[in-house]
Amino acid sequence: MNIPKEPSFRESVDLMFNRAVALMDLPPGLEEKIRVCNATYTVRFGVRLRGQMQTFTGYRSVHSEHKEPVKGGIRFAMGVNQDEVEALAALMTYKCALVEAPFGGSKGGLRIDPRQYDEHELERITRRFTYELAKRDLIHPSQNVPAPDMGTGEREMAWIADQYARMNTTDINATACVTGKPLNAGGISGRVEATGRGVQYALREFFRDERDMAKAGLTGSLDGKRVIVQGLGNVGYHAAKFLSQEDGAIITGIIEWDGALFNEKGLDVDAVRAWIVKNGGVTGFPDAVHTSDGGAVLEEECDILIPAALEAVINLTNADKIKAPLIIEAANGPITAGADDILREKGTVIIPDMYANAGGVTVSYFEWVKNLSHIRFGRMQRRQEEARHQLVVDELERLDRYLGDAWTMSPDFKKKYLRGADELELVRSGLDDTMRIAYQSMRDVWHERADVEDLRTAAYLVAIEKVAASYRAKGL
Ligand code: GLU
Repeated sequence: MNIPKEPSFRESVDLMFNRAVALMDLPPGLEEKIRVCNATYTVRFGVRLRGQMQTFTGYRSVHSEHKEPVKGGIRFAMGVNQDEVEALAALMTYKCALVEAPFGGSKGGLRIDPRQYDEHELERITRRFTYELAKRDLIHPSQNVPAPDMGTGEREMAWIADQYARMNTTDINATACVTGKPLNAGGISGRVEATGRGVQYALREFFRDERDMAKAGLTGSLDGKRVIVQGLGNVGYHAAKFLSQEDGAIITGIIEWDGALFNEKGLDVDAVRAWIVKNGGVTGFPDAVHTSDGGAVLEEECDILIPAALEAVINLTNADKIKAPLIIEAANGPITAGADDILREKGTVIIPDMYANAGGVTVSYFEWVKNLSHIRFGRMQRRQEEARHQLVVDELERLDRYLGDAWTMSPDFKKKYLRGADELELVRSGLDDTMRIAYQSMRDVWHERADVEDLRTAAYLVAIEKVAASYRAKGL
């Protein structure tokens, strides 16, 4: 087969950036300043494993320091390379600007297949990588704050936090050097589910506006919509779980590395996840048709397609065959610039990555603030809330006494109402609010500007304008 040559991931991001700035009135110098990656640090380090020295290559790229610290995950995968971390760092800049998380953009990666190492070995490798980055302030609570990404999670973040704290014993804010930590190591409730939750909130906001639905030729609500999810990792799993269990969506397809499952009546997301954890893949899962050609399921009829794994899965080879009228990019960069052109031409609506998966960094922001404030998130507010609610309950009790048998306040109401919101509820409502506001800012541009055809361009316009405003304010 003749596979068309496509731009690299970073070039793809630049092309999309260029399409947006062509509609803006930025001085060329500023435009260039925003586009380019400020610095990328490459590290090669050795770790003695199984009696032998093994050398690893890792990166931390800083795209924009218009706000500090810079923020972005650390990925452990064999495909990690400089082009990829730079593209991902750029997306972090725009993502943070769009959801108003006060950070610049960064990203890191280690070229490693984590499945080849046991836990103890991974810990040694992660600690050594942390040491290399932290000694150059590429991990630092006020300069550069990593988080989980592909191949990393709470466990790795706990190692990073501990390693940093050992290297900086007098730093009272050491815990804030990384986010996505486990709850018992300075993490925040709801961080693990945050990106998937954000995808759910994004879709809910989309389905609140008839005009948006009309653009994709959809009507109604999320209830009964057929959804295909590519990648049942942390993001895909939570998005699929919440959409099916809370919004009535039907997960008709799940694509994984070893093929795909399809069931028109809907797949049980928790059962599929449990199967993958036990068996390593989807093969053999009962209650579904299994095909080894996962790519084919990407092209199946559905209402919503959620690429939630790797970049460039929708590219020049398959873009014209994608039938979904609505795609939400839960992964970073799943659609290449060329595929984006084809899909736009077809009228497919794409909710872009920089917005769609911003739930992760939004809750990271809450975690960072929690660490810096040295108090459980919402602890103060909860006391205030409870005091306010007590006033209401006192009044209702008076009314209850006055009305006698005519009306009685239910004890259940009193109990529930008196309890202030806990950390998880606060995180979820803060995330919901953030996702709604950011969506509305894109939506306004999308509907109001005749020269803006799509949500991605709208997202870039809003984000770039915010970054530009920071630079202008600083006098750069
Ligand atoms: N790795 C995630 C992302 O791509 C999260 C970043 C963060 O929380 O800093 O957005």
